[in-house]
Amino acid sequence: MADPRFDPVLDRARRFADDWLASLPDRPVGRPVDDADDGAALRARLGALPEDGTPADRVLDDLAAALEPGLVATPGPRYFGFVTGGALPVALGADWMAAAADQNVAARVMSPAATAVEEVTGAWVLDLLGLPGECAVGFTTGAQMANVVGLAAARHALLAAVGWDVGTEGLAGAPVPTVVIGAHAHSTILQALRLLGFGSGRAVRVPADDHGRMRADVLRDLLAAIDGPVLVCGQAGQVDTGACDPLDAVADVVATREHAWLHVDGAFGLWAAASPAHRHLVAGAERADSWTVDAHKWLNVPYDCGMAIVRDRAALTAAMSTSAAYLPLAGADPSSRVPESSRRARALPVHAALRHLGRAGVAELVERCCTLARQAAEELAGDPDLEVLNDVVLNQVLVRPRDGDARELAAAIARDGTCWVGTTVWQDRPALRFSVSNWSTTPADISRSVAAIRAAARDQAGTRAE
Ligand SMILES: *Cc1c(COP(=O)(O)O)cnc(C)c1O
Repeated sequence: MADPRFDPVLDRARRFADDWLASLPDRPVGRPVDDADDGAALRARLGALPEDGTPADRVLDDLAAALEPGLVATPGPRYFGFVTGGALPVALGADWMAAAADQNVAARVMSPAATAVEEVTGAWVLDLLGLPGECAVGFTTGAQMANVVGLAAARHALLAAVGWDVGTEGLAGAPVPTVVIGAHAHSTILQALRLLGFGSGRAVRVPADDHGRMRADVLRDLLAAIDGPVLVCGQAGQVDTGACDPLDAVADVVATREHAWLHVDGAFGLWAAASPAHRHLVAGAERADSWTVDAHKWLNVPYDCGMAIVRDRAALTAAMSTSAAYLPLAGADPSSRVPESSRRARALPVHAALRHLGRAGVAELVERCCTLARQAAEELAGDPDLEVLNDVVLNQVLVRPRDGDARELAAAIARDGTCWVGTTVWQDRPALRFSVSNWSTTPADISRSVAAIRAAARDQAGTRAE
């Protein structure tokens, strides 16, 4: 029954997918990036704009061949860089369905089905994360945009409370709220502050403890010295250590203020709430006013998907709604919860993942990744050349060669190709960060990766001794 205009092309896409997915467990994980070349070789493989067309099926074959040298096995089982999820098969399948159905989730009238999926999935996510059922959920490209949405809602509400309509009047001359962030706030919070006109440099920074958690006692003292509305940004899941701010204590402090808003960036860490074994790490998160959580990280849907969750639906709608004579958009339409107008049916893969896993399966996924991270930490800590720097409370492991250069070690690990780890600067010195966020990673993948890391560390130590 297939349409011959689509069938051969989709076959080629399917063949590419089969080859790529089957290669993930075994291919070298990273790709060397030559800064001098800056992508020129890959761009050259794609060539110039053709004057004449090419048959559709050949386009896909040509692309598959041209891209191959630059593809990175980020969805594979031994990619531990950044915080990178893979794609659950069910989520990938649903993503294909979203692309084939090609629905626009700007307004209910454009796709009642895709709108219903967003609404139901948003409610499921609130339930799963233990957040208030009255919250609105906007499906964004990722946590960066979810942070923008949450802080935009906060900006609107805090200024409206003192009689200032920021949407109409802008920020010039406004009684701008004081923004307070943790010393380890994610770079995307700073970017959101820039985009929203708060200015990243004007935020008051609360010092952190030795795992990167905001110090609630210092927050209390700082707030005591600040007059007027405050916007406090907490965090669940510090990108290096996985540590979560003491959200209950932070919420206690914020609750003493009249005009105050608490935003929690829980891009990956908020998923701890879905696990009975890890829920205590984010206790108090439910007391916030807005939250950011990613789906393409720990929930393992394909890129891209994050969620902006806001308790005050009216503030969110006021901050995000558009209107025009030709648009039927009302406050209840999905585009009233995000900056975009037209959008793909991004919630469908999230829905499929949650339907497939169930509450128990999400908890199991979170717990399995945490168990694997602890395994990695134990095996790494057994090495005389390596030092594990953090309490592995979640899925992040921070490790440093005792004498060697962490960045050189990461480069050697990447050249070996067994696994890929990122680097960071922790307490003023470079370190390796190892994040376990993929559904397909096994204990054997961890052992194999740790063996490769230890071998690279041994080489580095040996080279120094010579
Ligand atoms: C990854 C991350 C982000 C940004 O997420 P994107 O989905 O890449 O936009 C924001 N905050 C935290 C804490 C993160 O870990």
